Amino acid sequence: MQFNPRYNTLPSRLYHHQQPSPLKGAKAGHFNAALAQQLQWSEEDIQHWVEICSGQKTFAAFEPLAMVYAGHQFGQWAGQLGDGRGLLIAQIVDKNGQTIDLHLKGAGSTPYSRMGDGRAVLRSTIREYLAGHALNSLGIASSNAVGFTSSEQGVQREKLELGAMLLRTSDCHIRLGHFEWINQYQGDLLPEFTQKCIEWHYPECLDAEQPVLAFAAQVVQRTAVMIAQWQLVGFAHGVMNTDNLNITGSTLDFGPYGFLERFRPNWVNNHSDYQGRYTYQQQPSIGHWNLWQWLNNLVPLCPASYNKEQWKEDLAQCLEHFEPTFLEHYKLGLSQKMGLPSFHKDSFDCAMAFLRILQTEQLDYTQSFIRLQEKQYEQIKDDCLDRRAFESFFAMYENIRELQDAAELDAQMALINPQYILRNHMTQKAIELAERNDFSEVERLFALLSQPFIKQPELENAADLEPLPSDVPEVMVSCSS
Ligand code: AMP
Ligand code: MG
Repeated sequence: MQFNPRYNTLPSRLYHHQQPSPLKGAKAGHFNAALAQQLQWSEEDIQHWVEICSGQKTFAAFEPLAMVYAGHQFGQWAGQLGDGRGLLIAQIVDKNGQTIDLHLKGAGSTPYSRMGDGRAVLRSTIREYLAGHALNSLGIASSNAVGFTSSEQGVQREKLELGAMLLRTSDCHIRLGHFEWINQYQGDLLPEFTQKCIEWHYPECLDAEQPVLAFAAQVVQRTAVMIAQWQLVGFAHGVMNTDNLNITGSTLDFGPYGFLERFRPNWVNNHSDYQGRYTYQQQPSIGHWNLWQWLNNLVPLCPASYNKEQWKEDLAQCLEHFEPTFLEHYKLGLSQKMGLPSFHKDSFDCAMAFLRILQTEQLDYTQSFIRLQEKQYEQIKDDCLDRRAFESFFAMYENIRELQDAAELDAQMALINPQYILRNHMTQKAIELAERNDFSEVERLFALLSQPFIKQPELENAADLEPLPSDVPEVMVSCSS
């Protein structure tokens, strides 16, 4: 590994140095060999992956640390938070020259653990491992993981579960909440911290007339694009607190996430989300709200030569681009999913008509797009109680496609509509086996989800494609993990 221990160069008030505390009886879970290669792990590192992914082996070149941050949770100021059960154990340079964080989740309690035990359970570790891989393979910016380990140590949740550790990778573990913590508790650190964020993550902004404004605009842009991509694949993050969004717009900390099966935009997948704040359909507006909170923290960075009111207005202006950026990406992607030309004035309305049918008829989101792609129109209609609505949508659909180059539109559909998503029952089965020390289903899902756009009959199970039976409710996932 080639180290770039840059977070260690920040003022020490921003973190706490400590070593991981290993679990009893650590053992191999799964290893992402392709990612390790991308991260330039040596043969020796690879040989020792279980020790590395279980906190038994750390690196002299990087002193592990827990970061401090704050956040708004479920819309309320939550005060100081921080890495309560994870440590940054390295920052390394990948094959493309990009610096990537290695963060070991479940590594024991830290000064930021509050009431928690500093651990992660096998169930949530596998959920995060597979979801990060699924999103990356779908081309969505997200954390990923080099591997995870299980153990023989019990960890108490609603019931006793097995402790585990995940070696997560991300281009950035700096959260919106980092700025909230600094502003609230150690305001003098703000200029230097912001400067480092720009140098590390948005160097192109250094040459702008006002680098902070250019940086803010970029964070808004990338977050909007990420959320548009979530919406397109039907991904619901589940806990979009400001401490769970980072400044590079790559998905992080998705605990009780879910991929939509039936198209129910107001589905609450997080057990603790009593008000339905973080449903699929709310994600764009919550992203906007989080960024608005975040931008407030940049107000003190007004340059001496600048009018303070103007500065606030300019920051607010950055947020004005959120909605158009989101809509541009969402509409473009949706047209591609539908096999409709994005430039046609009626394409978006037609796509909305299709989504309304999926919602009314409670059809499976992913499979319905695959059926459209495979021109199984009759099958979709057969699943509709309101056949008239389908016929009227379909007339509009054919009308728009009639005069276009259908082959090109069909080719686009195949590039954007996944054959496979990570359905809850798939993860659940993998977890149940893993809890009995059988990781074969994790391996199968890992392989299947490596190429989600390609049909893989030799790897797939019939259940991977099946919509939820109408009498089976969606699962709500507990936040405590
Ligand atoms: P999350 O909702 O998982 O993003 O966690 C919110 C905050 O709680 C973060 O500061 C976490 O580090 C902390 N946290 C969550 N679970 C635990 C745990 N089991 N032990 C210690 N801290 C935790
Ligand atoms: Mg978190």
